[in-house]
Amino acid sequence: MARNTLARIDTRALSHNLARIRELAPDSRVMAVVKADAYGHRLDLCLPALASADLLAVATLEEARAIRRLGTGQAILLLEGVSHDEDLAVADELGLELTVHHVAQIEALERYGRSTSPRLWLKIDSGMHRLGVPPEQAAACHARLRRLVGVEQVNLMSHFARADEADPAPTARQMQRFEQAVEGLEGERCLANSAAIVAHPGSRADWVRAGILLYGISPFEDGHAGELGFRPVMTLVSELIAINEVAAGEAIGYGARFRTERDLRVGVASIGYGDGYPRSLVDGSPVLVDGHRCALAGRVSMDMITIDLTACPGASIGSPVVLWGDGLPVEEVARHAGTIPYELVCRITRRVRYRGC
Ligand code: PLP
Repeated sequence: MARNTLARIDTRALSHNLARIRELAPDSRVMAVVKADAYGHRLDLCLPALASADLLAVATLEEARAIRRLGTGQAILLLEGVSHDEDLAVADELGLELTVHHVAQIEALERYGRSTSPRLWLKIDSGMHRLGVPPEQAAACHARLRRLVGVEQVNLMSHFARADEADPAPTARQMQRFEQAVEGLEGERCLANSAAIVAHPGSRADWVRAGILLYGISPFEDGHAGELGFRPVMTLVSELIAINEVAAGEAIGYGARFRTERDLRVGVASIGYGDGYPRSLVDGSPVLVDGHRCALAGRVSMDMITIDLTACPGASIGSPVVLWGDGLPVEEVARHAGTIPYELVCRITRRVRYRGC
């Protein structure tokens, strides 16, 4: 039998979350961000539930190609746009909408002689200083894009750096800079990521770009997306493959960093950093064994973890172990790991089997 370490993908939760975003932003169209293989949830499993999204957004040409290979004719936006001239023909063939964030990309399109799709998206740097043309160049860039053969619409977008933070001022400043830059320009507006959809209603505009919330995960440092009416899409689950009685005063695992203070029943589950479960998780980090909240005891190894089973006396070999998802928010696990939940779901390795449900 195959190793029982699975990422279960709840596609009904995904549909629910898309509907919840529409509830929060009823006047906006929804761009579903599915880059990085749908934030590690797998495009093939997720796309059917996102068929009603108004646009799919990916980072790279390869991700867009993967979507087309799955037979989806939905409109796709390339968030990074095209960096090499020769890729414009590929984007054209795939019918991709491009983000245009730099004057070099406008020059490349002018050399190419036409647009890859009737709709382009001009990105303006409103303060994050990652991608985007400077606000004072927005009007000139917009005009150049409008002159391209095949263009019918040039939309206007920007990205927030701090929409997840408690202080609304930095986001308000970005909104203000954006508004000034695009004043009088034709085209639909798109600013809000997941955090802004929830925390900055004024930024919802014509479009929202929803990523992490679609997967039922909160963009905020505190709490979890369940409190906002979202449902986790991924549940990462394994099982106990051994149970050992360890005497008081013994050490468990590599480096002997965990020492038992009393006799302990220790479960071994078949998941480790070779699966993408973070090694930075330390003693006391939560897992669910048979639905009971237990704690890691000892270091995460490549293939296994060791668990203090005190809170689950009925555990036996084969008992399910939930690492995150249903019943244990990935947001909470990420806090224990000293990272953000985005990273945890994105870095699950190919060894883990996926199953849609
Ligand atoms: N828009 C852009 C340009 C992004 O890079 C991302 C994600 O990194 C998103 C939207 C979605 O962000 P979130 O997952 O926080 O909703």
